[in-house]
Amino acid sequence: MKIWLNDRLVEEADAKVSVFDHGLLYGDGVFEGIRVYSGRIFEFDAHLDRLYRSAKAIRLEIPMSREKLVEATEKTVAANGISDGYIRLVVTRGVGTLGLNPFVCKNAQLFIIADKIQLYPQELYEKGLRVISASTIRNHPQSLPPQIKSLNYLNNILAKIEAVDANAPEAIMYNLQGYVAEATGDNVFIVAGGVIYTPPVQAGSLEGITRDVVIKLAKAEKLKAAERNLTRFDLYAADEMFLTGTAAEVIGVVNIDGRIIGSGKPGPMTTLLRKKFYEYAHSK
Ligand code: PMP
Repeated sequence: MKIWLNDRLVEEADAKVSVFDHGLLYGDGVFEGIRVYSGRIFEFDAHLDRLYRSAKAIRLEIPMSREKLVEATEKTVAANGISDGYIRLVVTRGVGTLGLNPFVCKNAQLFIIADKIQLYPQELYEKGLRVISASTIRNHPQSLPPQIKSLNYLNNILAKIEAVDANAPEAIMYNLQGYVAEATGDNVFIVAGGVIYTPPVQAGSLEGITRDVVIKLAKAEKLKAAERNLTRFDLYAADEMFLTGTAAEVIGVVNIDGRIIGSGKPGPMTTLLRKKFYEYAHSK
């Protein structure tokens, strides 16, 4: 596999960053996960916008112009012969001292991995997921804004551990007020009374690119979609529930904390939006 490292493609074995990189020492850096469908990089502009917003929020300068970054990403995808896959684009703070000060790190490191993708098994798309409510509270937006897609995923990882312990593929995270924030690596939607609801990002979620696309697709289908704070009860009582994310796309949830959602199968709006998403992703 060829990896883009800073200014060129290198062999995987040569793609190395220092043990003094603050990305490793402190999770100080930002990243994106992006899909490639039929040789096209999906919603690349939106991903780059989010990457630059995340970097700006942590005062990290991306060491490459946006134009060059597009070119480097395309070259990495081509060099690995990926026509359907996943891109991981990472910018770390770079090598510094053992202190926290990010500004002593002079050379931010940028690397791009383009690989095949491991999806949820097809069976789970047909049957739907069982999820749990995590007791780990999502980062407070005033502590670490969840809109920053940073290299520090420990908050999500603590919730993921709860999911794994409960033998569930995902966990739902709530904020300090008890409102739904997001899943550990996906955004959350429900359908109630014929309306599609998702929490506002201010409740503590990433501004998911798939989330935005799904809201647009729902509106194009003349479905009602709105942002609203959701409680645990709203999930328990929902007619349908689904998650959205770059890797998962649109996947139904049929059980949360032992409560069956709707008929116990992915609901009609979930199924329709999954289909529309598939068509959109493969047509763009
Ligand atoms: N929330 C979190 C915490 C994520 O890591 C992700 C991405 N895997 C998402 C939501 C979904 O965002 P996107 O649709 O942009 O992948």
